[in-house]
Amino acid sequence: MNAHHAIDLTTALWLGGIGACIGSFLNVVAYRLPIGMSVIWKPSHCPKCRHPIRARDNVPVFGWLWLRGRCRDCGEPISPRYAIVEFLMGLAFFALAYFELFSGGANLPDGPISPLVGAADNVWIPHGPLSGLYAYHALLLSLLVCVTLIDLDRQKVPSKLIGLGLATGVGLAAWFPFLHPAGPRFFEDASIGCSGLTGASIGWVVGMTSARLIALLRRQPLAKAGRNLTAGFIFLGAFLGWQGIFPMAAVLLIAGISILVKNSHKDLITTKSLAPIAMIHLAIWKSLDEIVRSLVS
Ligand SMILES: [Zn+2]
Repeated sequence: MNAHHAIDLTTALWLGGIGACIGSFLNVVAYRLPIGMSVIWKPSHCPKCRHPIRARDNVPVFGWLWLRGRCRDCGEPISPRYAIVEFLMGLAFFALAYFELFSGGANLPDGPISPLVGAADNVWIPHGPLSGLYAYHALLLSLLVCVTLIDLDRQKVPSKLIGLGLATGVGLAAWFPFLHPAGPRFFEDASIGCSGLTGASIGWVVGMTSARLIALLRRQPLAKAGRNLTAGFIFLGAFLGWQGIFPMAAVLLIAGISILVKNSHKDLITTKSLAPIAMIHLAIWKSLDEIVRSLVS
């Protein structure tokens, strides 16, 4: 391993560590926000014995491992979900660092945007737009994971969270147009600043329609799950532009067809697919964009 690879690996592990800490925070947010508890002001405690969790046991993933999944005070099992979310968030930040940050943005439409590769030249000597894009996409993944966790708890995504995600996604892209590298394309005359809002609006329509169709196919009322799925679509559109909602819409279409063909009402992958699909979209964005362009022209 040469020095460049060592710097890349160390940097990716450091960013992965940040991702795991954010995963730990998302576990708390997803539990507390829907029941109206303060996200910041109360320290974590064991849900069974209410004993506060010690700082040294609160280390993402490892805390759960060295306690062997049990509370230090009452011995009650702690769900592995917390550690799994922390691990997957760490993994996502780690992978995103390699294919977006260290590659100089080779995954982006019109990428690479930095002439250099590697962490030394793109992170430690920061490339502004590239660092911004990494943080922006990391924020999108965090929001989608939060929506997924709330959905798994059968709670509904609070309006507060939808508003916050929408405002940051649209607002940041209006302020820093490089955050939307795909641009509006079909709407060349509209200002770039509208691309987040256009994406979020189309995301809302596609999300609502998908949720209604799924409810219809399952012969179930449009419940919390429909609202959560729509929230995910709004975030995809706000952060990635209207192009970003179509991979997820395609997955739902396939899921819908398989419900019709098999005539089953099984709980098929829906909201759970949001974050993995956003990740795949980011990884192969350049190729997806080339396909869209060749279809349009
Ligand atoms: Zn306990």
